[in-house]
Amino acid sequence: MNHFGYRGGWLFAEDVALSAIAREVGTPFYCYSTATMTRHFTVFRDAFGINDALICFAVKANPNLAVLRVLGDCGAGADVVSQGEMIRALTAGIPANRIVFSGVGKSRQEMEAALNAGIYQFNVESEAELEALSQVAVSMNLVAPVALRINPDVDAGTHKNISTGKAENKFGIAWARAEPTFALAATLPGINVKGIDVHIGSQITDLTPFEMAFSKVADLVRDLREKGHTIERLDLGGGLGIPYAADEKAPPLPDAYAKMIRRLTDGLNVRLVFEPGRMITGNAGVLVTQVLYTKQAESKTFAIVDAAMNDLMRPALYDAWHEILPLKEAGPGISRTAIDVVGPVCESTDVFATDRPLPPLEEGDALAFLSAGAYGAAQASEYNSRPLVPEVMVDGDRFAVIRSRPSYEEMMAREALPSWLRPKLTVAGGTDSENGGAA
Ligand SMILES: *Cc1c(COP(=O)(O)O)cnc(C)c1O
Repeated sequence: MNHFGYRGGWLFAEDVALSAIAREVGTPFYCYSTATMTRHFTVFRDAFGINDALICFAVKANPNLAVLRVLGDCGAGADVVSQGEMIRALTAGIPANRIVFSGVGKSRQEMEAALNAGIYQFNVESEAELEALSQVAVSMNLVAPVALRINPDVDAGTHKNISTGKAENKFGIAWARAEPTFALAATLPGINVKGIDVHIGSQITDLTPFEMAFSKVADLVRDLREKGHTIERLDLGGGLGIPYAADEKAPPLPDAYAKMIRRLTDGLNVRLVFEPGRMITGNAGVLVTQVLYTKQAESKTFAIVDAAMNDLMRPALYDAWHEILPLKEAGPGISRTAIDVVGPVCESTDVFATDRPLPPLEEGDALAFLSAGAYGAAQASEYNSRPLVPEVMVDGDRFAVIRSRPSYEEMMAREALPSWLRPKLTVAGGTDSENGGAA
């Protein structure tokens, strides 16, 4: 469930009309609903009915500081994959003892920073990383709390670009290497092994792959304990899918997911850790854009909008499908025709929707791409020198810009000429990019 819907013919985020934000901020922009993300976090937490599970929001899904503050205030920890994300989580007020550091390629500098901060856990993905972390910790007279990420070799049944738990994926320690790696870890002076970590992919819409992975991991807990290893934590990763389209098979509810996990971990006596990203913020965000032009080709109608693949990369990267709603509701009698909704970027993959049944569109009509609150703004770039898309947060009847659109002056100022190229640059030819395209 989410808090985006029509009221009196206009699309609202909670109690704010998206058209009112568009007038003030310009398009394109992302808009997040505080009520939706806090609801999703609470539903997930309450599904487990246990007080001591640690729910670490996967920062890579939506790293905005305001989003992290809202979730941190609800009790969320953070799953980070870089020093930058760790700094974001700490800056937003999430305490270090609720931060886990994931990722296959942590640098020694990142390890040192995380040890200094005193994070809860490093999720280590290889023997080489384990040795490096031990050396860094020893050099600082510290011991690193570690979970070993094991690759359970199961097929998550999701898009190949977001599948991480098959033997051929780069993620985790190979299943057959699990025991030797735990044995190695036990000999390393800078490592204190706390548990096992697993994460098999993202946008998983069926419980079966989770169940296959988690039951293998539960068996591994028992095997490792028999061999004398202490396993007190089980980090089960993220990956629970969300509905993107009304007519697709609904992903499992957090309640069913939690029930399955309780059954598999019953009696194991471990602290559970989770790393959900998409299911917390995915349906809590929309991307608002407006139609620049329509174009009739021989067999196609195109709507060219002012958002592009650099603002929302999911369709280009994962063939993702986003619901598209006009901000002004189409009346009940309005007929729909198949329209391709495309962005202005010079790439054939800059396509948001193909043959999508939509009401007639005209220049200036504003549209919202739904379910854009995870892996949306997070993946945005300035490709084609398009200013980074701004972000807005709504809470009840108020809204605030939580990341502003950079001006062209700011964009140019990030670059410099080498001293041998003269004369110095002056920024030319621009009105300010604030207030966007054509609001
Ligand atoms: C991306 C990622 C997550 C979050 O996945 P979602 O599908 O957004 O829940 C959690 N853990 C790790 C290690 C990840 O790489």
